[in-house]
Amino acid sequence: MTGDELALLEGVFATNYVAPAGPMLGRFEAAMAEVTGFRHCLAVVSGTAALHLALRHLGIGPGDSVVAADLTFIGGVAPIAQLGAEPLFVDADPGTWCMDPSLLAEALASGARQGRLPKAVVPCDLYGQTCDLDALRAVTDAYEIPLIADSAEALGATYRGRHAGKGARAALFSFNGNKIITAGGGGMLASDDATLIEHARGLSQQARQPVPHYEHIELGYNYRLSNVLAAIGVGQLAALDDRVRRRRAIFAGYQQRLGDLEGITFMPEAGYGRANRWLTCILIEPMKFGADREVVRLALEAQAIEARPIWRPMHLQPVFAGATCFGGAVGEALFGQGLCLPSGSGLGEVDLDRICEVIRGCARL
Ligand SMILES: *Cc1c(COP(=O)(O)O)cnc(C)c1O
Repeated sequence: MTGDELALLEGVFATNYVAPAGPMLGRFEAAMAEVTGFRHCLAVVSGTAALHLALRHLGIGPGDSVVAADLTFIGGVAPIAQLGAEPLFVDADPGTWCMDPSLLAEALASGARQGRLPKAVVPCDLYGQTCDLDALRAVTDAYEIPLIADSAEALGATYRGRHAGKGARAALFSFNGNKIITAGGGGMLASDDATLIEHARGLSQQARQPVPHYEHIELGYNYRLSNVLAAIGVGQLAALDDRVRRRRAIFAGYQQRLGDLEGITFMPEAGYGRANRWLTCILIEPMKFGADREVVRLALEAQAIEARPIWRPMHLQPVFAGATCFGGAVGEALFGQGLCLPSGSGLGEVDLDRICEVIRGCARL
């Protein structure tokens, strides 16, 4: 927290809007529209819920298929399966770690040949680096398939001068506790399509018809964000630029301290944008470095320093055993060697020194 959230929370208590309704929600949505460049925003309980609503709006259900990133977090995929549709996974491009446009073209051509095109495509902006949205859109536009950007990790990142997600039919953002800014949980669905957002808004409030008695012509969800959390979100959003600067400085600090080590490389930054460097991720080549990813992770853990492997690809997840995946070797290799280093905005120079000393100690002497 920056400290400014507290004054906003006091305002919430003063007005007694301690509910999933109230003026902070509108303020948070307007501020997010301003930051992202999307015309319309809807604040909900999580990024996962935002994706669920977008897919529901597109009418996705049993019998449908939806393309998703193979290398991502489950929240960007689970709603596809929960709606009864089949997820089809597409591997990452080694230059960006995000969905490979040529493999997406293969996936859609394969669907066209079978007369069963996916109903949507959901790429991910991985670790705060945007996917190559224009290249992916060129593929989806040829088949008129809507693209929903999972920008949960990419708030504050840009792609060709636009905010992450902008240019997709809709984008989702997350304010979960581990993200670059947080409302203590929460998500946002953003789109230039007013109809999409208004339908999602209705669905997020139990699909109540606008009549005094309670009437429902379809089933919705209780997904609206609390006005209390929206106040925290408003306060946090004001600090976004600072946080991106800080995360990028942390990335640079690791590079400075570890860049000379043989066998260690950093997640590349694509030439088309500016990543928010939500997490600093490295690859460890055991033959060159002299230790593998797990040895380094456990050495850090022994010093009470938490580091995690990068996301395990979806096609390797037991819950998706047997699922179709186009490619898959890139994500598998990244998972085998990839480590997310401590990256919290509060990390100081002394912390960086201490972490890097442990990593350096694992290297071949
Ligand atoms: C965090 C995250 C989500 C889900 O967001 P929640 O707010 O935690 O539901 C979805 N996709 C990716 C890639 C994420 O990192």
